[in-house]
Amino acid sequence: MSSSSTLVESSAVLNDQAESSSHSFDNTTSASPWGKSAKATSQSNQAVSFKDVMSEQLASQLQVEENIKFVQEDYQPDTIETEPPDLTEGDIASGSSEDTSNDALLAQMLQAEMDKEYNKYIAKQERQVNKNSKVKLSFTNYRTDEMFVSEEDDDEDLYSSSDEDIGSGQGADPSQNILEIKNDKGYVIFGKEVVTKHDSELCGRRNTARLEDGFPLQFRTGDATGMDIQLNNKIYNSLKKHAFSEQRRSHRLHEDKEHYTAEHAVDERTRLILHRLVDRGIIASVNGVISIGKEAVVIHADGGDIAASDLPPVKNPSVRKVSCLQIPKECAIKIYKTTLNEFRSRDKYIKDDYRFKDRFKKLNPRKIIHMWAEKEMHNLLRMHECGIDCPEVILLRKHVLVMSFIGHNQQPAPKLKQAILSSSQKKLAYEQVVNMMKKLYHECRLVHSDLSEFNLLWHDGKVWMIDVSQSVEPSHPHGLEFLLRDCTNISKFFNNLGVPAVLSSMELFNEVSGLNIATENEATFLSTIETLEKSSEEHSHQGRNKSSQILEQSAH
Ligand code: ADP
Ligand code: MN
Repeated sequence: MSSSSTLVESSAVLNDQAESSSHSFDNTTSASPWGKSAKATSQSNQAVSFKDVMSEQLASQLQVEENIKFVQEDYQPDTIETEPPDLTEGDIASGSSEDTSNDALLAQMLQAEMDKEYNKYIAKQERQVNKNSKVKLSFTNYRTDEMFVSEEDDDEDLYSSSDEDIGSGQGADPSQNILEIKNDKGYVIFGKEVVTKHDSELCGRRNTARLEDGFPLQFRTGDATGMDIQLNNKIYNSLKKHAFSEQRRSHRLHEDKEHYTAEHAVDERTRLILHRLVDRGIIASVNGVISIGKEAVVIHADGGDIAASDLPPVKNPSVRKVSCLQIPKECAIKIYKTTLNEFRSRDKYIKDDYRFKDRFKKLNPRKIIHMWAEKEMHNLLRMHECGIDCPEVILLRKHVLVMSFIGHNQQPAPKLKQAILSSSQKKLAYEQVVNMMKKLYHECRLVHSDLSEFNLLWHDGKVWMIDVSQSVEPSHPHGLEFLLRDCTNISKFFNNLGVPAVLSSMELFNEVSGLNIATENEATFLSTIETLEKSSEEHSHQGRNKSSQILEQSAH
């Protein structure tokens, strides 16, 4: 399904480009190796974009005029006479090279034309062979001038748009086609072989300048355009091909990702769970999506009117737990994605957590996702018990966590990042966050580990903490490092908000943890933290209490 939509999209892109560069295509078809009709001449005048004319207008114009004169006088007066005056410096310019005899040039021109025809033929064969095949054969080795022909193919493929090989470099932008077509006059190759220094310089600079507008937006071309760098044609063209094929690749990846989100986050199993929740009256209706994150999708739901005490008994309380007596009117359902890719990088949060350590080794990936949801539930329950403002857990079913909704009328509370606060509210928010962190650390024995203005909501005049699936105990082998990172985020955010007397990240760390590490030097601060973590870990074989004790002792 995803691949077919990719094809549709890419052929649409091809069509687009076909339209916008239709002039240049006319040019290619009407180009005769041996000269041009008056009609073709006028068309090729049209094909020059304004930008092309404007850039280096004078230099190229002079050079071109000289070249034409040179060719007309010395070489092929009959055929060249009809040549349009819009040749660019790269075309026949090199004809002015003095050490090349007339006959040799003429022969090279003829050879070039024959090569071009031959290469065109090879390209056609290649396309025919590869037409509907997933495995593509390349005839590149049979070509006499690989680069030249492949670019010409690009032009043709733009118009045949039926070609499905979207990854092979077609689809360069129209202005680039114009350049290629101007080359398509039988002079290019000989031009390439006998290029004067001046021509290559001009052409190189122009290529560099084109980095600015000829490439996809996302493609980083660096600062080359600000310097006097000359890119030769071959490098420019292959860079360009690479840029566009990268762009298409990233589009495809992106599309796959979205496809996954829509189709797989709420897959059959998830849908069944949601249906059951509605059937049992726990949820009245499932509404819109609140957030699509990397690991989870959050959906708004209306709470059902069943009393929590009426819920059916639970066989395994750790898998399904209700912390409130009445199901709230508005609920948030967090559905952990059953695709694993994003979770791999987060393994460290769970596999070193003593609470899950032993189970982690035995579980299959799907169960590990369930564990993430379970971990968030446990952490939320702990926080709730300690009186930290956070969503209330309603129930957990496999990878689906139902909790109370922070917000009003389906409108989720703003993240601190987005909330518009008065300066007194900002100060209040800061104080609340610091207190929350302390409570979390000392009473819940947790370090949030992903604390920032994105995981703090502003609701009913106070701060609410969310997203605690990755939260760990302070005795986790990296717990203190996670805490320092949280502190850094918080200090930075409130500092930028302009809140007065914001503690530095190290001061906040000491304030939250009760440790008293010297704050003069960040590097020594961090190494002290790491040493503490190590000694706490060394004692962890004596049980978690011992390792917590180490931290507590250090705090006094
Ligand atoms: P993620 O791992 O995707 O960041 P979060 O738990 O942070 O998952 O949820 C993503 C977003 O969904 C939050 O930033 C918040 O806007 C919204 N959200 C999550 N839980 C709730 C909730 N209980 N009430 C209201 N909005 C919520
Ligand atoms: Mn989040």
